[in-house]
Amino acid sequence: MAIRILADEVVSQIAAGEVIERPASVVKELIENAIDAGASAIMIRTEEAGKRIIEIIDNGCGIQSDELEKAVMRHATSKLTNAEDLFHIHTLGFRGEALAAAGSVSRMRITTCTAEGNNGYSITVDGGKITGIHQTGTKQGTIVQVTDLFYNVPARLKFLKSDVTERNQIEILISRYALAYPNIRWQSTHDGKPGIRTTGNADYREVLTAIYGVDIAKKLIEIDLKEEGISVFGFISPVALTRSNRREMNFFVNGRWIQDVQLNSAIIRAYQSLIMVGRYPIAALFISMDPEEVDVNVHPSKAEVRFRSPDKVFGIVHRAVRRSLIFQSPVPEIHSNA
Ligand code: ADP
Ligand code: MG
Repeated sequence: MAIRILADEVVSQIAAGEVIERPASVVKELIENAIDAGASAIMIRTEEAGKRIIEIIDNGCGIQSDELEKAVMRHATSKLTNAEDLFHIHTLGFRGEALAAAGSVSRMRITTCTAEGNNGYSITVDGGKITGIHQTGTKQGTIVQVTDLFYNVPARLKFLKSDVTERNQIEILISRYALAYPNIRWQSTHDGKPGIRTTGNADYREVLTAIYGVDIAKKLIEIDLKEEGISVFGFISPVALTRSNRREMNFFVNGRWIQDVQLNSAIIRAYQSLIMVGRYPIAALFISMDPEEVDVNVHPSKAEVRFRSPDKVFGIVHRAVRRSLIFQSPVPEIHSNA
């Protein structure tokens, strides 16, 4: 078989597949952009579980009109200038892929205005091709509308789950960001029905209440530990409040939600002998450390990281959780090895 260099369009679609797997991945990338843009209010609107419309409105810095075309190109970013920067990333984005990826598998419109800009501009992209740039009236900030996701990748469409499942994925994701950024006012609606709403007053309990309801939110135990330049802050459930799955164990490293099997087990070990096997706590843990101590450039979706000193991190998390549990728990500690 002859070896061919793939056409740009195919390359883009392959790359898009790594970043944009489902509607929730679009929402994730757009929310991250809004946060990176310094927004203090983010609104998310979806229709048909994001398959028909995903719209994110932020009041962040906006995109300059002469940069709009670049913003939707692959590997185009304002957040990274050289390879060295990869080791001290302070933004959620850095790969310069998301807008290009979203634009290549949907019909996308970005409407934006900067503080300095006298006018707003909008750019439309259809299946990866720019179809127009127009001047338009708009407030400072950015509106990204992604419609007909995967209309040109029917194979992807077939892999999507039911609207209920896809919508849940989106709402879970928004909840995570709302927790990580309680200083942002969040508002979501799905097919006109309200989802999460927060005021942006930086009150974690308020966001926890919006997500879990007041009964659970007030029971969650606050934890806070700082050791060796690593700080662990967050909320965990008391031993009497458990779940049948580990989905509600959430970790954030420097404001980024991540998945990490070892962090999961550090927490589960902290609950060992205090809760039944097969039960899991609710946890929202915010780990902060020097960005140089964590490599976020592991996977296109940026949901996995590598720690420079993993044992140190897991040790501190385990101790932070265990200590608070022992202190708070009415259950006497019998079989602990911590
Ligand atoms: P990345 O976030 O990795 O830089 P993206 O493709 O997500 O890549 O975005 C490309 C660029 O477009 C960003 O670097 C940023 O300059 C600009 N941008 C995207 N979304 C927004 C937004 N909501 N507000 C302001 N600027 C944005
Ligand atoms: Mg981005």
